[in-house]
Amino acid sequence: MSAAPEVIVVGAGAAGLWAAAVCARAGRRTLVLEKTPRAGTKVLASGGSRCNLTTSLPPLEAARLFGTKGERFLRRAFTSLPPIAVRGHFEALGVPTEEAPLDKVFPSSQRAVDVRDALLRDARDAGAEFRYECAVVDVREEGGSWTVELADGEVLRAPRLLLSPGGMSYARTGTTGDGYAWLERLGCDLVEPVPALAPLASDAEWVHELSGIAVQDAHAKLTDTSGKLLGRRERPVLFTHRGLSGPGAMDLSVHVARGLAEAARKGLARPSFWFSIDLCPSVDRDTLRRRLIDAAGRPGSPRLARALDGELPRRLVDAACRQAGLEPNPLAASITKPQRHALVEALKGLDVPITGTLGFDLAEVTAGGLALHEVSPATMEVRGKPGLYVFGELLDLDGPIGGLNFQSAFATAELAGKAAASR
Ligand SMILES: Cc1cc2nc3c(=O)[nH]c(=O)nc-3n(C[C@H](O)[C@H](O)[C@H](O)COP(=O)(O)OP(=O)(O)OC[C@H]3O[C@@H](n4cnc5c(N)ncnc54)[C@H](O)[C@@H]3O)c2cc1C
Repeated sequence: MSAAPEVIVVGAGAAGLWAAAVCARAGRRTLVLEKTPRAGTKVLASGGSRCNLTTSLPPLEAARLFGTKGERFLRRAFTSLPPIAVRGHFEALGVPTEEAPLDKVFPSSQRAVDVRDALLRDARDAGAEFRYECAVVDVREEGGSWTVELADGEVLRAPRLLLSPGGMSYARTGTTGDGYAWLERLGCDLVEPVPALAPLASDAEWVHELSGIAVQDAHAKLTDTSGKLLGRRERPVLFTHRGLSGPGAMDLSVHVARGLAEAARKGLARPSFWFSIDLCPSVDRDTLRRRLIDAAGRPGSPRLARALDGELPRRLVDAACRQAGLEPNPLAASITKPQRHALVEALKGLDVPITGTLGFDLAEVTAGGLALHEVSPATMEVRGKPGLYVFGELLDLDGPIGGLNFQSAFATAELAGKAAASR
């Protein structure tokens, strides 16, 4: 770039690419600094390399999935750039999209690389320039403009600085939490970063033995050991050789991570958790009880798995028996009344002990980051720091699986880009 940049964007991820295109299209000389050798690495890895780029939910319903504080903050962004407009934008960039179950939206090609390439092409065509392998190590305010220090000691300046270096999950994609230290040095409030959308760890052998079993219609709740309800989710759950995965488990993992972080901060003993799965969500307790009684009375009384109409994998039935103190798959007629009661409770709430999450390495997003009260929800400008904008995953925002996190990255980037360009 021959002339000095008017806008510097730090981080060429989903949010940075979007914001760079907005600024450059508005005629601002825009320079994007990216630490790794390429743009949008996380986009490439997303959605099993299919990229669930947004949601089919209406904007306010989507915002609600970010919790009370997140919803309040995102309302403006999601109504300014609703999910349908994100789809329209990609359509205009030559990437048609299609809906999938659980309110997901993917590129029709099912190729994340098409999404990444479209974002990059859009920013480049608009005139944004890129420098790769260019790690920012600090940012400062000096004489009314923003200064960016690079790893090799070079210093760049611009009147507007857009920070989108992401969080600290999946560090191999370039996101090592660099932005937190910069903001801390600038005196901003941070919420402790914890892994979110991570698989859950269980040390119970019987859980590992169920590895490979998926409960598609799992109604799950997470409690701490005192029985306090931490969250509920109705999404598929997958048993793994280390614990639980799938959207139902990953969506609730942030509560486990927060509980562990809070205990560590207070110097308390490491807490544990229960993840309870209703294995028969479409049947109430009474109906289940009657079904077992009917089966017991049938000539040639069937075994339990058959008595449940063969709807549940045998290994899951055995796990419920184990919890109820019964032998595996007993004859329906051999089940006593107290055992039946315990069995119904186990089927309506198979209790999986949870010791933690699999951490930042396997977390799809980072919860925590720049506290939302530090930022204007209309412009993403940091309060009291004119010309500094923070957006994307560096903010204290995390949504569930389903395209919500890209929606948040794009919508906050749109506001930041527009505000920075018009300043
Ligand atoms: C495996 C996986 C699958 C996912 N799938 C989905 C999905 O299907 N749908 C969905 O909505 N969300 C998904 N997510 C989450 C989504 O990828 C993120 O929420 C989103 O990428 C955040 O965008 P961002 O631009 O804020 O950060 P990022 O996309 O992480 O981009 C940050 C960029 O900043 C760069 N950077 C970092 N530090 C510096 C520095 N010091 N100097 C210069 N550059 C720097 C990084 O290299 C990176 O390129 C997934 C995440 C993972 C890990």
